[in-house]
Amino acid sequence: MDCIFCKICNGDIPSYTLYEDDKIKVFLDINPISNGHTLIIPKNHSVDLDDTSLDTINYTLAKAKDIKKLLEKKLNPIGIRLVQNNGTLEEVKHFHLHLIPFYNDNNKMNVEDVYKILNN
Ligand code: AMP
Ligand code: ZN
Repeated sequence: MDCIFCKICNGDIPSYTLYEDDKIKVFLDINPISNGHTLIIPKNHSVDLDDTSLDTINYTLAKAKDIKKLLEKKLNPIGIRLVQNNGTLEEVKHFHLHLIPFYNDNNKMNVEDVYKILNN
């Protein structure tokens, strides 16, 4: 299947990975809305909310709680938005959650520098 997120899960396409286990992968969005914009994806391909099991949704959401704390601790945002797109709003047709931090001062850094901060 020609799915860019499946390729990221397989390691065929590199990513700034923050966390990985046998079920999910967490990595920085390559075209971020803000510093620390993170994607949480199940490794098992499903398309959208309708197509994804509650078990899988729960598991990805549980990790979103952890990663939210990490982003808060390292990047000090004023708030963090949790987003999941469906239909034409979903650009990549592989189920994923976005965590999008917001700041008073939206000085965008390059993704590699944000990655370094998050891994320190
Ligand atoms: P959505 O509109 O919810 O499908 O969002 C898909 C997101 O995936 C966008 O924010 C893209 O910037 C992001 N994205 C696309 N390709 C990559 C990639 N190779 N690595 C990291 N993020 C990506
Ligand atoms: Zn996929």
